[in-house]
Amino acid sequence: MCGIIGYIGKKEAIPILINGLKRLEYRGYDSCGVCIHDNNLLKIIKAKGKIVDLEKRIKKENNLNSTIGIAHTRWATHGIPNEINAHPHFSEDNNLAIVHNGIIENYDTIKLLLQKEGYVFKTQTDSEVIAFLVNKFYKKSNNLKDAVLKALTQITGTYGLLVLSKDKREIIVARKGSPIIIGIGKNEFFVASDTSAILEYTKNVIYLDDFEIAKITDTNYEITSLKNQKINKEIHKIKTSLDQIEKSGYKHFMLKEIFEQPEKIKDALSGRIDFKNNRIVLGGICLTKEFFKNINKIVIVACGTSWHCALIGKFVLEKYLRISVEVDYASEFRYRNPIIDENSLVIAISQSGETADTLAAIKEAKEKKAKIFGIVNVVGSTIARTSDCGIYTRAGPEIGVASTKAFTNQLVSLWLLTLFIGQKLNKITEKETKEIINNLNNLPEKIKIVLNESKKIKEIASKFKNSKNFLYLGRGINYPIALEGALKLKEISYIHAEGYPAAEMKHGPIALIDKNMPSVFIINKNKNYDKIISNMQEIKARGGIIISIATKGDEQILKLSDHTIFVPKMDTQFTTFVNVIAMQLLAYYIADHKNCEIDKPRNLAKSVTVE
Ligand code: GLU
Repeated sequence: MCGIIGYIGKKEAIPILINGLKRLEYRGYDSCGVCIHDNNLLKIIKAKGKIVDLEKRIKKENNLNSTIGIAHTRWATHGIPNEINAHPHFSEDNNLAIVHNGIIENYDTIKLLLQKEGYVFKTQTDSEVIAFLVNKFYKKSNNLKDAVLKALTQITGTYGLLVLSKDKREIIVARKGSPIIIGIGKNEFFVASDTSAILEYTKNVIYLDDFEIAKITDTNYEITSLKNQKINKEIHKIKTSLDQIEKSGYKHFMLKEIFEQPEKIKDALSGRIDFKNNRIVLGGICLTKEFFKNINKIVIVACGTSWHCALIGKFVLEKYLRISVEVDYASEFRYRNPIIDENSLVIAISQSGETADTLAAIKEAKEKKAKIFGIVNVVGSTIARTSDCGIYTRAGPEIGVASTKAFTNQLVSLWLLTLFIGQKLNKITEKETKEIINNLNNLPEKIKIVLNESKKIKEIASKFKNSKNFLYLGRGINYPIALEGALKLKEISYIHAEGYPAAEMKHGPIALIDKNMPSVFIINKNKNYDKIISNMQEIKARGGIIISIATKGDEQILKLSDHTIFVPKMDTQFTTFVNVIAMQLLAYYIADHKNCEIDKPRNLAKSVTVE
């Protein structure tokens, strides 16, 4: 998920590797490390935290000069962010080392098998199994590429992978689901997860595709399929200049993160659905069936965008589990002496896992003996450690202050949790499970359809850069999306916006409507459609301007709306995902037209660690 760089050539590797890691820093990471040839051994140096700390450690070592090496910035998915878990990882005998981006889904099965054979693991990561497995085959054949090929046949999951052995001047590279490029220089080669890491050295690159593996030596590179068939790859010229790369070509992190959502949703689902048996597999759930059977209520505590996700969670959990769900602002929860006990499940949602209000709510819930389930993005964060159990959202580092991809992955996590509990309690039928899994799997493609509308959304946004107020309206499961749309606009464009359930509009906010107050309506084709049409008529009758987020093919809506953004047709419960993407893009482009500082809006912090 994070960053990789490798070098083989005639120059000193360490400065190139460190420089490359710095270029990858913008992606966010929690630890880093390098591995180089050192005399006849491999030398690994790692640090928790920043690359400058890694540099300091390297400086303390004398006489490190190698012309081959691999390096990594880690964003933990398995195992807390500490020095031991940082990459590169050694094989058990220190003869080879790997860096890995991605997730090895079947790592615990492989780990168990290797442990039975006597292997002793040092880290909590999923990645370490690759080093051990490759080495097992390498010891037999002394052919590093063959050993990697063999190991990959046993691995499921995603990887961008580099392997270095102590006794060969070659780097083996493999890719599945996690980007890898090979940079071709003069008498030197680079490997990286992102062009930004190598751009200042070469502009000639090969994009490795999934299921391809490369062997890179001082003089040559050879790319083959996993069946070892040679593949001829085109060499591309990168057109990007150095100053463009910090955000991978995107103008802001927020935009990049909006566009990352299809891939991040795939990460959130990866390895968590057993398609053969139609079941949800969640590793981090230690609560017993007995506990789930006796749950008297579920309370979801969260703040900001996570709180909107919680509101949607209420719809989903209640619908399938028929257990009463309360949603509370974390900051309010602890002060109202909540009625919970040892049979209550408190779900805490937080991107950073450090939100002070949510932590305080957890403390209160623990005192009342409730069980805590954390839905958190940052591995090893305080909420992750304080919860009884939970799942990581796997959205990758979110740098833009306004949350986007973390929100959609929180929502995916809530769906997975609903399915998980529903299956435990036999409350969800086979048919429902299949439908939900199918919908979840289709999300990336559906979201891409909305992302393709971005040009049109940008154009619509240009008309509203001078608006002072906005109303956002939606019904049912999309009412929280109206709240989220309004929040996004407020956060990054400083335009005042209110979100309401559409029918509530006539109980007050309608007084504000005139030609200067645009309303954004979420109006998908479903059972609320006609009711929302009436709400729209009410706005039109008062001279209000309407932007509709509507279902593709809905001609009727064009007559009532001044501007329409179409989203693909979906099962109503899943329309939240496509509607929110339209909302994110609308807010983003309005803020961009206003030249706002989108990634760091005034007065806001990414991780709110004060109560
Ligand atoms: N899953 C691996 C880990 O947790 C790799 C994470 C990454 O891509 O940075 O160590």
